[in-house]
Order: sequence, then structure tokens, then C-alpha cells
Amino acid sequence: MKIHSPEETKDIPYSPIVPPVYQTSNFSFRRVADFRAAFEDEYAATLYSRGQNPNCALLAAKIAEMEGTEAGLVMGSGAGAISATIVSFLSAGDHVIAVKGLYTWTANLMNNILMPLGVDISWVDGRDIDAIKATRTDRTRMLLLESPNSLYFHLQDIKACADWARQHNILTTLDNSYATPLFQNPHSLGVDLVTHSISKYINGHSDLVAGAVVGPERLIRQIFLKGYMTFGSVLSAADAHLILRGLRSLPARMRQIQETTATVVDWLSQQSMVREIYHLGHASHPQRELVKRQMSGTTGLFSFRLRVDDLASAERFADALRLIRMAVSWGGYESLIIPLCSFYDSEIPASEQHPLDMYRLSIGLESADDIIADLQAGLDAI
Ligand SMILES: *Cc1c(COP(=O)(O)O)cnc(C)c1O
Repeated sequence: MKIHSPEETKDIPYSPIVPPVYQTSNFSFRRVADFRAAFEDEYAATLYSRGQNPNCALLAAKIAEMEGTEAGLVMGSGAGAISATIVSFLSAGDHVIAVKGLYTWTANLMNNILMPLGVDISWVDGRDIDAIKATRTDRTRMLLLESPNSLYFHLQDIKACADWARQHNILTTLDNSYATPLFQNPHSLGVDLVTHSISKYINGHSDLVAGAVVGPERLIRQIFLKGYMTFGSVLSAADAHLILRGLRSLPARMRQIQETTATVVDWLSQQSMVREIYHLGHASHPQRELVKRQMSGTTGLFSFRLRVDDLASAERFADALRLIRMAVSWGGYESLIIPLCSFYDSEIPASEQHPLDMYRLSIGLESADDIIADLQAGLDAI
């Protein structure tokens, strides 16, 4: 894994060790011929920072290299990267197959923006490849995967899905935010385009929002000319620079997070108050074989359920936590929790909403002892 691929700075004044931040909206040209060439192929030119900027290009190249793809683009958010990618390949009348449990705003793009514009969409359980195959029509253009998906951490058999899609000329995209390029490389399993929310583990410090898409240059160029340049969901050079700093410690952070998570999950599984744990590394995960086949790590994001059956008890557990902060997102230094009882609606039947005793936990870089002590305090408060 070449995270430390050379950052070429020898032609920059003073040969700095770290590339400078190109805090500039545009770039100048000495000759009309060069200016003209830049307009003719803006993908390959440094012309205007809504297109290419050196800091963003370096970050995109690194993520592409880690994923084993030819090219990539970074954007202002994961949602921006996913949207720009999907719209670059669809027209009215096209059909898309998407796995249930896709990230909320990806589902929103499909249901509330693309469907009214005439794109047809089928939602299927991604664990069931026969269900995926059965929904194909002669207009099916894309297959949207996210493995694992959040909350229940269900996997798709990536190679089987990608092989089947390729046979039928269906473009595949996979949201790889959970696994990071360290633990899963969907392109090597046949997926065309891999997207990331950089806001999570890749940046790793909860201080910015960013996204990426990587894949074959032919497809990345199409995204550049369609969704990327048009919607303008660009990343700032300063944020790209910060992400490069975060990326340098990705393997070390992930190693520590996995070690701490194993200790915490082990502890949780011994607590009588814990009803169930949904973690890819836990023996109870029903797709352990597939996890081992297509992933090399299981990270620090998981869910668990407690043996509580009323809202007040569910809230008392979360309210008592001090070290573990209540917040959305994940992947930073701080351990974070989302109590699903935050969304509980007493008007809706229990079977149609998330269990009120469920919590999603992102383990950070604090010590396992401190995290466990905090969880114990939560259990004591119930
Ligand atoms: C957070 C997230 C996104 C969206 O990324 P943003 O950077 O917040 O726009 C997409 N997919 C997954 C799986 C995520 O966790």
C-alpha cells in the first residue's frame, strides 16, 4: 500500500518537504497556444480551481493509487462525489438497481431527484444476488452498491455483483467509505467506480467534509466534464492539504482503532445488558465468510442493542456517557455514538422503525480502558 507515494516537489522553489497550498482560483499562461491547449483538455490542465488544482489533484491521485485505479477526483463532500458520479451516466428512461440501506442522501438523490426526472429505480436486498439479477431490465444502466452498509453492516458479494453487471453492460459504483482503501479495494473485484466520504476515516480528524470518486480514466473524464465541472462541488486546496496530512497516518490510526475496537466489542459481548452486536469482526456476524473473502479489516464502526424496552432507559444510557460524544458522522479521534432512540416516534409501529434500544458506535483513538469505563457508566445509569 503506497500511501507515501512520492510527492514531487523538486521543481517547486525551495523543494519543500510538504507541497505548498495552492490557494488560488486560477492559473496564468504565457502563450496563447498553451492557453488554447488548456481549454481543449481542461481535465489535463491546471486552468481554474473548479477544475484541477494541484493539491486536489495530488490527493485524488493518492486515493486512486490506494484503490488500484487509474484516476480520481476529489470533491467538496462525499454526497457531492456520489451525486456528480451518478448523474454523469444517467438519462431519462434509464433503470438503476440500488441496494437497500444506501447512505440516506444517496437514496434521496435517487428517489427525490432522479426519479422525478424519469430515471427508474429498483431497491433490492444486496445480500441476495438473485434478487439483484431478477430486477434487471433491458434499460438497466447502473448498479449502486455500498458494502458494508451502515447500521446493520450487511455486505454484498462484490465480485459476484460486478461480474454479473459487466456481462450485461451495467456500470457499477460502490460506496467504500466504511472500509477505506486500506481494507477493501472494490475495483480489484471488478467494480467500475469507487466513491468515498473522505470526511470519515481518510481525513480522520472530524475537521472537514470531503469526498472522492476513483476509477478508469475514461469514466473519471466523463464525470469531470459532466457532474463535476457542472455542479461545482469542489474541494478547497487548503482542505485537500489537511486531508493529505490526515492520510499519512491512516494505517497507524486504523491499526489502533481496530485493536481498541476488538477489546471493546469483546467486553460488550460479555455484558448481560447487551442483546446483540452488529460488527463485521464479531463471530455472530452472519456473513463472516464473505467478510474474510473480500475485506482485510473491519474498522471501528458497529452497532449494538441493549436489553432495554422503554425510551427513558434507552436515553439514560446515552445521556450518562461523557467520553463518548453524541454526534453524527464517524472516523475521527473522538469516539461517537448515535442512539437510534433519537429518531423514535411513538406514532409509528415498532416494526417500521429502528429499534429504540439500538446504538451506532464509532470507536476513536482514546484508550480502550477509558471507552469501556464510559460504557460501564452508561450501563450503570440505566
Ligand atoms: C458520510 C457518508 C457519506 C456522505 O459523505 P459526506 O462527506 O458527509 O457528504 C456517504 N456514504 C457513506 C457510507 C457515509 O458514511
